[in-house]
Amino acid sequence: MDSKRQLRSYDRRLLEETLTLARRSAEIGSAPVGAVLADSDGTVLARGRNRVAEPWDLRERRIGDASFAHAEMDLYFQLGRLDSERVRGYTLYTSLEPCLMCGGATGMIGVGRIVWATDDPWGGSGRLIRWNEHPAFVQVEVLPCPYEDLEREGARLFAPEAKRAYPEVGWALWRERYPEFAAAVDRGERSGNRE
Ligand SMILES: [Zn+2]
Repeated sequence: MDSKRQLRSYDRRLLEETLTLARRSAEIGSAPVGAVLADSDGTVLARGRNRVAEPWDLRERRIGDASFAHAEMDLYFQLGRLDSERVRGYTLYTSLEPCLMCGGATGMIGVGRIVWATDDPWGGSGRLIRWNEHPAFVQVEVLPCPYEDLEREGARLFAPEAKRAYPEVGWALWRERYPEFAAAVDRGERSGNRE
């Protein structure tokens, strides 16, 4: 797939924003993943970030303190019910390839387009959801890793969490996919993420 052709003028700016959100989660002690939902003009509708290590804030409709408090779920909980017609024109941006739960939620909600900065060869939904073959997701346009520098930044940010959270077989996939950043984590080097 030639994803470059399908890029929009605001894609880069919004992906950069997911990385900023990911850094914020890392500072607080949650996993470094960020997400942004935008309409077809590139206007941001909601921002989310991983909050697994943070308390719930129901007043602000912020999920937290749960293993499902992923960046995309944080964002969807804030928005509540979405118009099923309008949502087709929306794009979900994430710093990391969505997991099965978040990818599944995105398809179920009917979001028309997904762009992520960095692959997650273990936790990402791409290994199991064949986006363009699954009958419910066949309309979803998927653009993985369109910018090399942002892909590298996302891999650098998430690699320590991948090593901490994933089983050896999952970490082996990261080593294969992003050897440079995995090797830095194996050597115990700081990467700007929590240690
Ligand atoms: Zn997820």
